[in-house]
Amino acid sequence: CGIVGYVGPQSALNVVTAGLKRLEYRGYDSAGVAVLADGGLATAKRAGKLVNLEKELAERPLPTGTTGIGHTRWATHGGPTDANAHPHLDNAGRVAVVHNGIIENFAALRAELAERGHDLTSETDTEVVAHLLAEEFSACADLAEAMRLVCRRLEGAFTLVAVHADEPDVVVGARRNSPLVVGVGEGEAFLASDVAAFIAHTRDAVELGQDQVVELRRDAVTVTDFDGGAADVREYHVDWDASA
Ligand code: GLU
Repeated sequence: CGIVGYVGPQSALNVVTAGLKRLEYRGYDSAGVAVLADGGLATAKRAGKLVNLEKELAERPLPTGTTGIGHTRWATHGGPTDANAHPHLDNAGRVAVVHNGIIENFAALRAELAERGHDLTSETDTEVVAHLLAEEFSACADLAEAMRLVCRRLEGAFTLVAVHADEPDVVVGARRNSPLVVGVGEGEAFLASDVAAFIAHTRDAVELGQDQVVELRRDAVTVTDFDGGAADVREYHVDWDASA
């Protein structure tokens, strides 16, 4: 139900968990985070309120990294369990994805992935995306391009945000019929389902349009359509008082 992504010089875990707190008002049943650190991917996720996730992070701290994503889930496919909480990973544990919305054709994609030897471990519609991204990334070594290729195969309404351990300073997002906003800072960039998640850091925002993919780096935000063509985006300054 809520999504946050970050790349920059700060602790991604701190930025992402603070952002998720700002989105709590939207309601959710589980929460999770993924951080890229030490050449790998580290995740934590828990059913229930953010305090459950925080407890888990206190007991089992993640390594410090500066690229990360987070999610608060409102379950549509699969009950509100730890295993169904986002992020979802591929079998190698190199790609992590969070998702708002519904992938309508997930059953067909699941069957296709199972046939190719993938082991899907959750009941969500989301998990197929992690596996498809891993396949496409292994062919093109470009997470934004992998996201474009995967999105073209998806039906339904979705916001997707992903990271890959082989592209450690990149966060990629995509949207169709579901909101996604970029926050542009100095040497850092944010991605969220609502500006409230990053308003403490920057008020310079870019709203993605329908069927667009964004690649976030510390000093560059690149938006394309699902075919890789240049895309029109709306840049704006958030001037309302977000602390209200
Ligand atoms: N359909 C996904 C799930 O059930 C995402 C739900 C959401 O928007 O939080 O896991």
